[in-house]
Amino acid sequence: MELFADIIIDISHSKLDQTFQYRVPEALQGVLEPGNVVEVPFGRGDRQTRGYVMRITDYSSCPPEKLKEITRVETDLVGAESKLTALALWMRDYYGCTTLQALRTVLPFRQKAAQRKKKTVALRLSREEALAKLDGFRQKNQKARARLLEALIGETVLPREVVTGSLKITASVLRALEEQGVIACESEQVYRTPAVLRQLREESEGSRETGHESAEDPVPGAGETHEPPGFHLNREQQDIVDAFLEEWDDPNRREYLIHGVTGSGKTAVYMELIDAVLQRGRQAILLIPEISLTYQNVIRFYHRFGDRISILHSRLSQAERYDQFERARTGDINVMIGPRSALFTPFQKLGIIIIDEEHESSYKSEAVPRYHARETAQKRAALEGAKLVLGSATPSLEAYFEAESGRSRLFTLRQRATGGQLPEVAIVDMCEELRAGNRSVFSRRLFDKIKDRLERGQQTMLFLNRRGYSGFVSCRSCGHVVKCPHCDVSLSLHRNGRLVCHYCGYEQPAVHRCPECDSPYIGGFKVGTEQIEELVAQSFPCARVLRMDADTTRGKDGHAEILRAFGSREADILIGTQMIVKGHDFPHVTLVGILVADLSLNVSDYQAAERTFALLTQAAGRAGRGMEAGEVVIQTFVPENYAIRCAARQDYESFYRQELEYRMLSGYPPAGGMMALHCFGRDPGRLAVAADYLAKFARRTAQRYEADVIGPADETVAKVNDVYRKVLYVKHSSPGALTAMKNRIEQYIEANTGFQEIRVQFERK
Ligand code: ADP
Ligand code: ZN
Ligand code: ZN
Repeated sequence: MELFADIIIDISHSKLDQTFQYRVPEALQGVLEPGNVVEVPFGRGDRQTRGYVMRITDYSSCPPEKLKEITRVETDLVGAESKLTALALWMRDYYGCTTLQALRTVLPFRQKAAQRKKKTVALRLSREEALAKLDGFRQKNQKARARLLEALIGETVLPREVVTGSLKITASVLRALEEQGVIACESEQVYRTPAVLRQLREESEGSRETGHESAEDPVPGAGETHEPPGFHLNREQQDIVDAFLEEWDDPNRREYLIHGVTGSGKTAVYMELIDAVLQRGRQAILLIPEISLTYQNVIRFYHRFGDRISILHSRLSQAERYDQFERARTGDINVMIGPRSALFTPFQKLGIIIIDEEHESSYKSEAVPRYHARETAQKRAALEGAKLVLGSATPSLEAYFEAESGRSRLFTLRQRATGGQLPEVAIVDMCEELRAGNRSVFSRRLFDKIKDRLERGQQTMLFLNRRGYSGFVSCRSCGHVVKCPHCDVSLSLHRNGRLVCHYCGYEQPAVHRCPECDSPYIGGFKVGTEQIEELVAQSFPCARVLRMDADTTRGKDGHAEILRAFGSREADILIGTQMIVKGHDFPHVTLVGILVADLSLNVSDYQAAERTFALLTQAAGRAGRGMEAGEVVIQTFVPENYAIRCAARQDYESFYRQELEYRMLSGYPPAGGMMALHCFGRDPGRLAVAADYLAKFARRTAQRYEADVIGPADETVAKVNDVYRKVLYVKHSSPGALTAMKNRIEQYIEANTGFQEIRVQFERK
């Protein structure tokens, strides 16, 4: 039987998912698989061109003798690119996107970034021979030749730009000397290295040359971030490493979750695991949120692994990025550290993927394909026989759920590795404050403590967790929040005064009295960091204040500059959004105030409590990182809420239990699968009609699969750049059923002209 392959040719140029059909040569039948990278004759002159196999069939679209044959499959069938292509096909099917979109997400494709070459001129004679030659040149008065030879006798190899530059040697002289066998002109490809690593390398070379003890201090300024000398993992840490190595050869045990507070020594464990994996001839990827990719962190890894590591971050140029992927592919490095997209580093023998702070929302891509790094890493690890290690102080419900169900293995680090105590946390009931006549944003307790810190010359952080803030309505007297009767998420207040659910579209008029306690003090909540800054200035006129939010960090280094200024104690109080709770350690902060914990709690999103718990836990962890003990004040209108209570106690397990119960009751992930269909269009009328049709079709399909369809509704942000946005949700306990429904809906959209001006994106929750 003859076989044929559909092949995508050039992923960097084509716009459409265009495939070309080729014959599969007999030798490759039964060997070739979708995802393989092949060489095929293509275009004018049948130039050998690289292509990706998308599909294999036993029928051809035209007479077989008209088709060309695949020349060869990439030398080793399991090369990194082939495996990544297979991953792309999975992403296409699971998340819903075109093949090209998926391929471009996972494959480093060259934007024709010119390779950088380093050219040198080297002496090919021994010292004695060269000295004799030099005499000859001098006698014949060949000044240029003599000059070059003299320089080379000192150095042996010179950069070409020095030779043609300051030595002023012409190309014809070089050619003549090369022909005589005196010198060799060479050129080797050099990779662009990210600036931080270049700097670290230069510094460590510098210190070696000047005779510093490089083992003790390879990088100036790295002293404070060194692991203590003779550093041993503690019992809990060592248990993780031991278990990991015991199960190294067991293909059924490949996922691990490390639950440990910040400072409990997770990073130390990651380094140990990476070391072990490298010793076994495999390679490692460490994903971290970009904001944690700090100089200190890079130094720590450089100190341990030297030039075997590289990093990716958003400020690298296309060419620099491409070169880091090339270095990985060719084995020049074997550890890659970076945010989400570093997951696609083309290592040939990947051994481990580690995802630090796995609960972070930055692991979810907002661009199509809207993939989640955790799920995609699971898939990649499975495809390549690698291990997956997740770490977090506040694991995502998904990750913990998988540990409980036995899919992954859970380890807990219970203490800070360097000793030190967790901060003391107080919850303040703001309804109580109101009853006592205090209408300020500062409770009496927080006010007194700020004053006390100012007097003692210690620092305070004030935190406004506004992320995803969508204008909920709450009662200042009893804390009641108006929720959707169908979805159990907060309703959002719209400009027209109506309250809207962003899941199902339910609407109701605004309320003027609290439905719980009949108080008239019910309404939308409006506070911003700027207002807080003014209020702080009024209440504490002598305090030096810094503010960090989207406005003050717009400049290139705005973010780093504010952190630096606060770190060097140029201010007493730092006010900010969630930006301030991550990444940095400020040893002189002994007080953290969370102004309105309810802000992130009442976002109309089923993950609101989970995010709030994580944010509060993190924020609390900011206090008392130095010698002095820390204190935290959480202000809220709902002091009994489990997310707030559990965060105050740093009690993840009981938060998890209660949150899982809520998810079970309402069928939200991880208890059930959920998929969003985001619809975009410039004409609001047409968008509404299309979304209604889509919902109707989805409901019909849902009957077959016994799925639930919710919506359509306006998105939380209903219009961006004049594009209107609507969303509907499909819920089902099985991910497979959701994929099947997605495929049917995709076909429906394809076949219907009503969707021509509407864009639909799928998103797995
Ligand atoms: P995490 O990644 O959980 O925040 P780290 O690995 O960064 O924790 O550890 C926090 C601090 O404790 C670091 O300064 C680290 O060098 C130190 N540390 C980690 N493990 C140990 C240990 N076993 N003994 C002493 N210090 C440790
Ligand atoms: Zn009330
Ligand atoms: Zn609803």
